[in-house]
Amino acid sequence: MSITIALAGNPNSGKTTLFNAMTGMNQFVGNWPGVTVEKKEGALKGRNDVVVVDLPGIYSMSPYTPEEMVARDFLVQERPDVIIDIVDGTNIERNLYLTTQLTEIGIPVVVAVNMMDAVDKRGDEINAENMSKALGCKVVKISALKGEGLVELAKTAVEIASFGKTSPQHIFRGTVEHALAHIEEAVLHDLPDERQRWYAIKLFERDGKVAAKLGVDGARLAHIEQDIRACEAEMDDDSESIITCERYSYIESVISRCRVLKHANEMSLSDKIDLVVTNRVLALPIFVAIMFVVYYVSITSVGALATDWANDGVFGEGWNLFGAESLPVPGVPELAERFLNFMDCAPWLRSLVTDGIIAGVGAVLGFVPQMFILFFFLAFLEACGYMARAAFIMDRIFRRFGLSGRSFIPLLISSGCGVPGIMASRTIKSDRDRKITVMTTTFIPCSAKLPIIALIAGAIFGGAWWVAPSAYFVGIAAVVCSGVILKKTRLFAGDVSPFVMELPAYHWPVPRNIALSVWERGWSFIKRAGTIIMLASIFVWFTSNYGWSDGSFGQVDMSESILAVLGSSVAWIFAPLGWGSWQAAVTTLTGLIAKENLVGTMGVLFGVADEENSAAMWSVFAAHFPALSAYSFLLFNMLCAPCFAAMGAIRREMMTAKWFWIAVLYQCGFAYAVSLCFYRIGMFISSGVFGIWTIVAAALLVMFLWLLFRSDSGGSKKTGWNASAASPING
Ligand code: GDP
Repeated sequence: MSITIALAGNPNSGKTTLFNAMTGMNQFVGNWPGVTVEKKEGALKGRNDVVVVDLPGIYSMSPYTPEEMVARDFLVQERPDVIIDIVDGTNIERNLYLTTQLTEIGIPVVVAVNMMDAVDKRGDEINAENMSKALGCKVVKISALKGEGLVELAKTAVEIASFGKTSPQHIFRGTVEHALAHIEEAVLHDLPDERQRWYAIKLFERDGKVAAKLGVDGARLAHIEQDIRACEAEMDDDSESIITCERYSYIESVISRCRVLKHANEMSLSDKIDLVVTNRVLALPIFVAIMFVVYYVSITSVGALATDWANDGVFGEGWNLFGAESLPVPGVPELAERFLNFMDCAPWLRSLVTDGIIAGVGAVLGFVPQMFILFFFLAFLEACGYMARAAFIMDRIFRRFGLSGRSFIPLLISSGCGVPGIMASRTIKSDRDRKITVMTTTFIPCSAKLPIIALIAGAIFGGAWWVAPSAYFVGIAAVVCSGVILKKTRLFAGDVSPFVMELPAYHWPVPRNIALSVWERGWSFIKRAGTIIMLASIFVWFTSNYGWSDGSFGQVDMSESILAVLGSSVAWIFAPLGWGSWQAAVTTLTGLIAKENLVGTMGVLFGVADEENSAAMWSVFAAHFPALSAYSFLLFNMLCAPCFAAMGAIRREMMTAKWFWIAVLYQCGFAYAVSLCFYRIGMFISSGVFGIWTIVAAALLVMFLWLLFRSDSGGSKKTGWNASAASPING
């Protein structure tokens, strides 16, 4: 009889090195059936009756990635005779997570602690005997690279394949064990004893695929659901997180029994920082505070000063370089004026340059200093390692709402630009999570939306401290609420995939890299101002200055222009939101070409270039927008469909036209509803205005709250079984 050895371990633990060392040239490479995951098999050197099967490198046996599915199906269904679990000895904290799962399957396990040469070099010690006792399985120390310990490993594996037994030593907390015992009793008593535990834990985690494989019927699922819920209520966490946390505390205890670090009590600075920064209680307030400071400083305080300087100086009157008496340096409008006079240009060209291009492009470019400050902060946070922590922290929170922390990375990227943000969602394996992320990621204000935020914060709210950060947090709230609402619908039924990411140690960023990142982002912003924004500004200038008057086409008053006619024909749509002027409607539409246009178009429409300084110029704009209308306008434009470039990305990532339209209509509908509720309820509270739209807004709000808090019928993880379970249980 031949013996099958399965080789399992984390990526980078040295599996390939070990496999090659064990099998030599006797390898067969193919694919696992139905997936593109590579399958390697080979006979153990000198033992043609022993087959080594190399499983894909995985961090856990969750049913989410193809690699995890392949590994777990093979182990649970094909049941090899023995598992060699290769563990990176320099990183046992992370590697043992998989080990705790492997020992529960009921197949003999031998843990191969690899990279012992590196461990020895550091002067650390790993006690194999103690580890073996703590885990309940054999442990052999090896160095795959140096070929040390491999003979003993192979011998041990072959030995325990026939006679060995692995009995998991890990005992979960009382309430969890209680639930597991109930599950075993209710649905698993027909299985051999040693296999029950793994299945019980998976059922406790509400693994629909396992439930389906076991053929557990709806009644029995409902029965064990009660046990799971009781445990969740007692531990105030969802069942999957409970298991994960318990595993980690068990791993800690295993490590404390078997490893001595040479520099034991010297916690690295990075670990010390993480004690605070990723602390369960403090993490979120710290994250909020950091993001608040970043947005406050770059948009409201320092950034606004810099932008005023740019607007008043470069794009305004100019400034005196060395005090009031010195030589004045003219601003761009003044220079352009002189140049146009010098060239003796026609009035229309003069108007095109000053009222069109300089007003539009200048309005956008005026925000460049704010952009640069923001980009600097984001690049710094990313480079020093904080952003990885942010994703980790957000995962804990997102998970409560049925979203995956993986969604946070696209969101983060979207704070620069939605297009790469949408593309980054490709890394999300779960189809449901990916679609939700693609649909919601542009709710986060991208850099092109910042000018309009800064403008409204400055011109309408007098630089109030809360406006800029609020736009960011509205974006996050929109993502979270959408996630909660969408995942409860049938369209998005499915599992939340867990999130494994390595946290790099904190380090001082290399200034050059930061400078590069800031420059790249900033330059692309400037380039867009010079290209697409310029074209759009020219378009807006032309259509807002020309039209038909008394039957002939020519320069007309703005209120009679083509743009006014176009704008007026759609303005009624936005009137209920508190900004029904044709200018606001047109601005919103040009925002679809590029979001910077929101400011560029306003610059042209409100004749910004004519005014003397930035305060006066935007006061014209402020007069147009009462505070509530302005914030409602901001909300709509933050949340509605993104620019065409981002819509193109959505179309590509969604693959089908149907899903593209679902995404865009959802975004616009959501934006409309939020703005309507905000404006109408705000008007009612602040000035008692009541009407049919107030009722509509109230009804929408109630519906929104209902969608948000209703129990889950879509089959998400938290309150039900995923769709592939034998029978979903409704809340
Ligand atoms: P896999 O991703 O698990 O297949 O890992 P590989 O076999 O590709 O190994 C990852 C890295 O670890 C490679 O650079 C190997 O050379 C190195 N490596 C593997 N085994 C050992 C070992 O025993 N000691 C040391 N120092 N390095 C090793």
